[in-house]
Amino acid sequence: TSCNNGNEKNLALNTTTTSKNSDIETKVSDLLAKMTLEEKIGQMNQYNGFWDVTGPVPENGDQAKKYEHLRKGYVGSMLNVRGVKDVRAVQKIAVEETRLGIPLIIGFDVIHGYETLSPIPLAESASWDLEAIKKSSEVAAKEAAAAGINWTFAPMVDISRDARWGRVMEGAGEDTYLGSKIAIARVKGFQSDDLSSHFSIAACAKHFAAYGFAEAGRDYNTADVGTSTLNNIILPPFKVAKEAGVRTFMNSFNELNGIPATGDKYLQRDILKGKWGFDGFMVSDWGSITEMIAHGYAKDGKQAAQLAVNAGSDMDMESYLYVEELAGLVNEGKVDIKLIDDAVSRILRVKFELGLFDDPYKYLNETREKQVMGSQEIHDAVLDMAKKSIVLLKNENNLLPLQKEGQKIAVIGALASDKTSPLGSWRIAAKDSTAVSVLEGLNQYSGNTITYSKGADVALGKTEFAIEVNINNTDKSEFAEAINNAKQADVVIMVLGEHGYQSGEGRSRTDLGLPGVQQQLLEEVYKVNKNIVLVLNNGRPLTITWADDNIPAIVEAWQLGTQSGNAIAQVLYGDYNPSGKLPMTFPRHVGQVPIYYNYKSTGRPTLPGKDVVFWSHYQDETNDPLYAFGHGLSYTTFEYSNLKISNTFSNDETIKVSVDLTNTGKLKGKEVVQLYLKDVFASVTRPVKELKGFELVELNPNETKTIQLVLTKAELGFYNNQGEFNVETGDFEVYIGGSSKTVLTDTFKL
Ligand code: BGC
Repeated sequence: TSCNNGNEKNLALNTTTTSKNSDIETKVSDLLAKMTLEEKIGQMNQYNGFWDVTGPVPENGDQAKKYEHLRKGYVGSMLNVRGVKDVRAVQKIAVEETRLGIPLIIGFDVIHGYETLSPIPLAESASWDLEAIKKSSEVAAKEAAAAGINWTFAPMVDISRDARWGRVMEGAGEDTYLGSKIAIARVKGFQSDDLSSHFSIAACAKHFAAYGFAEAGRDYNTADVGTSTLNNIILPPFKVAKEAGVRTFMNSFNELNGIPATGDKYLQRDILKGKWGFDGFMVSDWGSITEMIAHGYAKDGKQAAQLAVNAGSDMDMESYLYVEELAGLVNEGKVDIKLIDDAVSRILRVKFELGLFDDPYKYLNETREKQVMGSQEIHDAVLDMAKKSIVLLKNENNLLPLQKEGQKIAVIGALASDKTSPLGSWRIAAKDSTAVSVLEGLNQYSGNTITYSKGADVALGKTEFAIEVNINNTDKSEFAEAINNAKQADVVIMVLGEHGYQSGEGRSRTDLGLPGVQQQLLEEVYKVNKNIVLVLNNGRPLTITWADDNIPAIVEAWQLGTQSGNAIAQVLYGDYNPSGKLPMTFPRHVGQVPIYYNYKSTGRPTLPGKDVVFWSHYQDETNDPLYAFGHGLSYTTFEYSNLKISNTFSNDETIKVSVDLTNTGKLKGKEVVQLYLKDVFASVTRPVKELKGFELVELNPNETKTIQLVLTKAELGFYNNQGEFNVETGDFEVYIGGSSKTVLTDTFKL
């Protein structure tokens, strides 16, 4: 249909939207005009669909009610229905049995892949490789779309500085700049340039907002942050996700400064939909509308629904409250119908953009599902991503890479043979035991003699529910065998860390060490053989301080997904030269948390010649981290020289920073050149340094490249406490290096 100016007047209903696509706007308003109040509210209702949707019609209870609602058109979206057959079953009801035939939007947590898994998002972020990350989201979207999914609840763009919080595994780490770049890459990967393609799915920036600032790292806990942190640290990744075209947002379970995010009008209406002009829709988190009662913000379900819709939560995930309460609230005049129309328009808009109205079955093709699921293209992409995600933390005496022949290698640790743990948390569609284990990888890539001992378990109950994971496993009965194995080996590879279920949602920890008796196992093995390569599997920074003091080689391998063992083996044997850099600071001790590189100076001086801040230090630990943000080694070495700053803004409002990077080692390798900035003094205090640019550079041995990084004017600015963005004149310091512990510095004046 062509653009119809008459109908466009109906846009007045959408007070806050500015979509360019007037054709879709016309269709949205035409459809809206035909809908009853109940049908409108139905679009705002999302149900979880874990029942057997192709089985017999449920006759009573919750499932029967959901089914009945689906047939009446009182459901706009379902989550967790997956696979072409099942999705077709529910879509058919929506399209063929309801009065208006509005298709459902099918949501799913495609967090790091669908059936074939990429590394956990924190691991991917360690690659600093935006192209690879985009590609990883792209293949995840492709596989999920082939299974009938239209919409992922990803990326999680919550910044977090607290490794106790289990969900750091799902984000991009502690830094706003890196996190923002990664947010853009992921949104573009999932959605592609064409949302209506049956290979792309709608993305969701979550959790709006401050979920990563849960007090004490305990999931869902209160967040209480000042304006400066909210505006400068937490919100920017959401803002750039919006600018990159993300079509949905999810709010969060936590309260922020006394208001549950789900009921927070300032965040959702004033900032997101108002100031930023977001015209997609906001889904609540699972049951988060109901949770406002327990928060002590709503007196009952009815008031919770009223508060949520007024605040700008457009879709209710599994609280049942919109479908139960909204019609009454509208009829009583407590909720303005304009707000309902606005919410529904947003939801319909995204459905139109996805092309669901053109063909509601376009995602549903069994042949494509079979071809795409687990295809070679997807395995290649996740293996590539997995290699790029590995961070070489330490490599004394060039113990790594290992020789491929003629070595006796002892492999120790329960995680070394585990084919499920590497899949990590958020792997609903992936089958157990589908990851390549480290042991399998090592055997495939070498002719060495490899003998394996478990040594100790990581956790006893390996189930999805955190409560059943026993991290206090104390069984040492298999130590002796492992020690004996180590005694006879040239090199010991110890694969230790957290089980895949020990990080993720609801998996907070107070102890950031190696769970169970793995630390004791490591120390016992070290007594008989010091030639240890420690391979870590984990979903968060760990306090492996003893290991750093004693173990010669340490490889951070996170949870790398389906191709885990192949990626690790390729790195250990030198088929792949690692280039990952930490996206989160590793503390020396849990008592330092929250610890992050872009902290603020205290008023206290650093004592001359010592790394101690006068009285602002711990009596029992240094202020320094174990591994700094941005840290990561390579099998080759790099040198930085010749830092130059163009000093003033050129015509294009940028400052150019250039530096020479030389590969001084013997192997080809990649380095992430990092640029940090410090605003020396300002009307609001600024961090000691902030990442403002980076580039992934590949160099041959002895090769030198001049790398130019560009600082835009906006990158020099910050939000003041009134929420205004300013660039203030004055002195700036520039720092360059291969980690946040930079090696070159210079200054400029603005
Ligand atoms: C999580 C969300 C997730 C949702 C649906 C919630 O518990 O916080 O991130 O998308 O469940 O599975």
